[in-house]
Amino acid sequence: MTTSFSILCADHSRREIGFLMNESITAHIDARSAALKQLAKAIFNFNEIAFQEERSSKALAAYLENAGFEISRGQAGMNTAFIAKYGSGSPCIALMGEYDALPEIGHACGHNMIGTISAGAAVALKESGIPEQGKGTLLFIGCPAEEHGGGKILLVKAGIFEDVDAALIIHPTNISTGYDISYAIKCFFVEFFGKGAHAAAGPYKGVNALDAMIAFWNGVSLMRQQMMERTRIHGIIVNGGQSFNTIPDYTKAEMGIRALLMEEVDELSKKMTAIAEGAASMTGCSFKITERDAQPEMYVNVPLAKTLDKNYEAVGERTTMRTYGQGVGSTDVGMVTQVVPGIQGYIDITEGVKIPTHSPEFAEAANSERGYEAMIRAAKALALTAGDLFSDAMLLEEVKRYFKERRRDF
Ligand SMILES: [Zn+2]
Ligand SMILES: [Zn+2]
Repeated sequence: MTTSFSILCADHSRREIGFLMNESITAHIDARSAALKQLAKAIFNFNEIAFQEERSSKALAAYLENAGFEISRGQAGMNTAFIAKYGSGSPCIALMGEYDALPEIGHACGHNMIGTISAGAAVALKESGIPEQGKGTLLFIGCPAEEHGGGKILLVKAGIFEDVDAALIIHPTNISTGYDISYAIKCFFVEFFGKGAHAAAGPYKGVNALDAMIAFWNGVSLMRQQMMERTRIHGIIVNGGQSFNTIPDYTKAEMGIRALLMEEVDELSKKMTAIAEGAASMTGCSFKITERDAQPEMYVNVPLAKTLDKNYEAVGERTTMRTYGQGVGSTDVGMVTQVVPGIQGYIDITEGVKIPTHSPEFAEAANSERGYEAMIRAAKALALTAGDLFSDAMLLEEVKRYFKERRRDF
């Protein structure tokens, strides 16, 4: 009797502590909401593209440094990557930030909010005494170049995530959820080499690299009908020849292959290679395929996603299940989720209006008052989720176990 009563009491007080902790986190974010909106607005206006996010990364680092985080600038050979650290020991929970804009259309992917959400959450946690001294490490990892260049892939390769137990990030879009789907992608250069000749005086002396490219292009188009659902192949011809009156001796295409699993990407890339081989053989050209870069698919950590959804509801954000039909892209967050338990959550900054990202309308939403209000709710939900990971050892164990088992429940 006594034992079970004391367990009840312990449970009750743990819940009470949890409630107070959550109250403190959300109150700290509310108190800083004007500063956070200002920070996101400043990054929006800096409008810096991949690897050039000098002022954006400085502004975020300054926000964290002023709150007492220890800053290490320049990571994995990138000037605009940085780490902000608070606390020591394990567990180590990382909140990731992005801050790069798109060429021409600026912050049409809302990355001005991503770094701000994570920085806002990190500072609120610290101000609420989380993690307790010596009982955990809280990291903000400033990740440049998501749109182009795969900053997180370079950070993973440099070992930045080695001691991280879980990594979290929230991206603005038009739904709110803890779950994301992303394609694995590999990008290739496909080149054909022929022999130049005068197109009128001696075309029979030439070997036409443009013909090879067109045969390749048509072959890829014919393959599409036989491709599995939820796979993509797309590209552009970046060099179609040098002069209209010369048989082209060189052509080059840039191709992307995507699928929900990297194994499927590899299968398709074998077929693409066979098509290039056929096109080269038909025309007497030679060919070369070079892999430019790759990003694995997202491995969604379901216990983490569930926890973020729970915390979204707690801060008044209605969640929607993410489905394939809502459109799927690729992200370098996928790489992070392959090496440590992680998720990319989404926050609706459009009030349910289905504005697609990478559009001028979405850029407008990323700098709107309603968007910034949603950003504040995202910072709260993210901070609460990291708070849960620090305070609930069983949850963290479940998160790690899920990662190790390579389960795919979503
Ligand atoms: Zn984007
Ligand atoms: Zn994005």
